[in-house]
Amino acid sequence: MKPRDKDGSNENLRVVIRVRPPMAREIKDGKFISTVQAAPDHQQLCIFDYHAIEMVPDEDLEAFVQNPANYTIHQFTFDYVYDQESTQVEVYETTAALSVDSTLQGYNSTIMAYGQTGTGKTYTMHGFSFTPNSDQLGIIPRSLHSIFTHIQMKSNSSTTFMVRASYLQIYNESISDLLRPDHQQLNIREDKKRGVFVENLSEWAVRSPPEIYQLMRRGNAKRVTASTRMNDTSSRSHAVFIITVEQIEETIEGKRARVGKLNLVDLAGSERVRVTGATGIRLEESKKINQSLSALGNVISALTEAKQPKSHIPYRDSKITRLLEDSLGGNCKTTFMAMISPAIDAFNESLSTLKFANRAKNIKNTPMVNQDQDQGALLRKYQLEIQKLKQELDERTKLPLDGNVSELERERQKALEDKQEVQSAYEQRSKDLDQERQLRKQLEEKISALNSQMLVGGQKIEETPQFQNALEKQQKLIREQYQEKLQELEKERQNIEEDKAQTDKYKQLLLKQRDIMIALTNRLNERDETILQLQEELDAYEKLQKELEDIIQTKQSRVEQLEDIIKQNNLEIPTNFVINSNQTTINTKQQLLLAEMPSSKMLLVADPSSNSYIQTLPQQSINHHPSEAVSQYELKNQIEINNKLQLDLKISRMDQERYKKEVTSLQNQVQKYENDNTIDQAKKSVDIILAQLTKPANGNSLSMVAQELQKLQIILSEKEGSPKKQLQKIQYESPNQKNQEIISKLISKPSKSSNQLIPQQKRVKQKLDDELWS
Ligand code: ADP
Ligand code: MG
Repeated sequence: MKPRDKDGSNENLRVVIRVRPPMAREIKDGKFISTVQAAPDHQQLCIFDYHAIEMVPDEDLEAFVQNPANYTIHQFTFDYVYDQESTQVEVYETTAALSVDSTLQGYNSTIMAYGQTGTGKTYTMHGFSFTPNSDQLGIIPRSLHSIFTHIQMKSNSSTTFMVRASYLQIYNESISDLLRPDHQQLNIREDKKRGVFVENLSEWAVRSPPEIYQLMRRGNAKRVTASTRMNDTSSRSHAVFIITVEQIEETIEGKRARVGKLNLVDLAGSERVRVTGATGIRLEESKKINQSLSALGNVISALTEAKQPKSHIPYRDSKITRLLEDSLGGNCKTTFMAMISPAIDAFNESLSTLKFANRAKNIKNTPMVNQDQDQGALLRKYQLEIQKLKQELDERTKLPLDGNVSELERERQKALEDKQEVQSAYEQRSKDLDQERQLRKQLEEKISALNSQMLVGGQKIEETPQFQNALEKQQKLIREQYQEKLQELEKERQNIEEDKAQTDKYKQLLLKQRDIMIALTNRLNERDETILQLQEELDAYEKLQKELEDIIQTKQSRVEQLEDIIKQNNLEIPTNFVINSNQTTINTKQQLLLAEMPSSKMLLVADPSSNSYIQTLPQQSINHHPSEAVSQYELKNQIEINNKLQLDLKISRMDQERYKKEVTSLQNQVQKYENDNTIDQAKKSVDIILAQLTKPANGNSLSMVAQELQKLQIILSEKEGSPKKQLQKIQYESPNQKNQEIISKLISKPSKSSNQLIPQQKRVKQKLDDELWS
């Protein structure tokens, strides 16, 4: 049902009335006396002013209201009157839809809800429901639905749309953005291109009704919060929901840009106006509190009472009038929706509202389609921007050699793939986890079911064969699982054992190696000592040999000297008796010759076979023939000396021979030690072991180390004690001390003092006997 157009000019400013149904508290005993009556044509409305009805008792009320003498009727005509039976759909389709259509055509449209608090302004504009298709939906959601339906219907055409939404509140003359709580105390600006607008008000591009609902919810929550904080805020604040629809239509004539704006205004409670009007004292205060509504009234008055077309309209007296400047007598198709309550209590407010609405009817708006190039600039700008970006993108994608872009694209792709991979892995994991949980839950349920003492077929559940079977199965499963776990643990243990053994082996090897090193070092030291000792001994022997040779030389010269003495004294010495230095023994013939000599002259006979002296010196002959005795003694002395010399020589020769042999043997040994390459071999083995041990262990290296250790052991066992013992043997066999003594005695020259000769001789003989022949 479309509202009847009274005339062309009023089409741009509609005034509709909505009477809300009575509230529960307004109905007494199921009866309600309404002050309002709407005509069936939906254009006329009567409001009954019952005189002093408050004095009438309840039981007389019915009769009282029937009597025309008791009331005065105020009659009004509006573009549309919605009675208390009207629905949200009806209101939308017969009134709001026209505004939406205008907006889609590119007009500025405004729907302004005016009325006393509690008359249904918010209900009509919002509807307290965001459930799609709910019959409670108000004008704002329905408008948006229509807009999107329209856009969808036009989706195949060449028209491009852009829908944006803003939501603001004016409270105490302060504008705040309900969709951006941080945007407070905003200012109204005006420029030629945009007209009047709120600076810094957020605009939200929306592509679907749910997105709008989200915004509305957010904004309303903000408004509700404010109302709880400041008492009755909503009745003192204006809420403006702004929907901007931009569209570019490609026509045969070219592009056509249109920008339509729909302002959906939920004004503050109008009761303040009446109150302020009624009492002058509170006028100022009320003006302050609700300045805007007063200003609205003033603007409307100015607009309707203006005698000249260019008289002053006080738009700037309040934010709401300034903001809605276009809607009030300007470039806008405006719909006033005045809400009234039918209750007798609200009569004054209702009448006031109706008067206000009636006045508003006279406002003359001059709407025009916003085809201005600048109005569509934003959408065009976006389109141009998008086109430019698209072009750029095309160019970039066409350039395969553009390393940066392709690289970035690749990276992006890779990142995307990685993300997907991770996500799928994560999903898989959570799936597994879920399964696991499910299984666990099932198991737990099973257990709890089993635990409960349920009776199945008169039997305890644990006694049923099914239970036994299930139990056995379960036990078997658990046993198997444990067995597996045990095996795993055993394997782990073995691994640890092996590791430990390996470590021990290493330790042993290192210890062995250390021992070998110590042994080798000792042996090297010993060898060095041995060599030094042998060298010393060798030096000593060589020295000794030299000395002996010197002695022999001396003795020989002494023998020659003695022979000279004998010759000089004309003493006869058996030629055979003269000891040749080369002669070492006295033969048997010489012995016999000595025996044939007269006993008085027989002094001394050497017996080489028995290696002893035979002394036969007769003492009496010395006494009876002193001269003879002296000469005999001299002779004997000479012989004795000669014999001794000969013996000395003999002994020296024997010693010399032996020493020579020993020296040769020692030299051989030194040579042998110096040539001994077993030490080098041992060194080599140690090097190999060290090299293998510094590497990480493996079978080969360990077996190599073992081989080398074996070799070292063999070397050690073969040589064990040998150098040392040999050395000791040599030392034992070389009676240095003794030899030294003997030698020292041997080399000591016989004293020339004749008095001491005999005792000394005896002592020497004795000693020689002891040392050499014992
Ligand atoms: P206002 O915004 O004008 O202060 P509300 O929209 O909050 O008033 O309405 C006040 C109460 O009246 C709400 O509970 C609302 O549901 C109810 N109401 C208002 N108008 C109607 C209507 N036409 N039909 C049903 N209930 C309504
Ligand atoms: Mg409200």
